[in-house]
Amino acid sequence: MSKTKYSTQQCGTCGKETKMEIIGAVVGAENKVWYRCTRCHHSMMIDSSVQQKKKDNVIKINRDECIDYSPEKVYDIGAAIYHLDWDDMGKVKSKEKTSSGGNAIWVEFEKNGPKRLIENLQLAD
Ligand SMILES: [Zn+2]
Repeated sequence: MSKTKYSTQQCGTCGKETKMEIIGAVVGAENKVWYRCTRCHHSMMIDSSVQQKKKDNVIKINRDECIDYSPEKVYDIGAAIYHLDWDDMGKVKSKEKTSSGGNAIWVEFEKNGPKRLIENLQLAD
């Protein structure tokens, strides 16, 4: 009697993170494994090498490393910033001049995606 193994995976059929029964590996492709969803009982093949790649692409930002965003501050490219209103962290990707001659930064946010923000804002008087 072999013990049944389970792994939590995103089911492509019910679209939820569910407990999946591991049915077996694909012969000749050690990264590919057949799973059976314990909710909808559909079988699916998951390529763990693809999943690994996806994980690597996610920007991992530590909240402790973030500078709180404020339009008067100046940021370096690659700096991690935290936007309080959006409760979102991002990394400065590039800088540009705004049409009014001000300074702006492009930030790739974890939740909101790329956003342009004002930096080095000169407050009048
Ligand atoms: Zn399912």
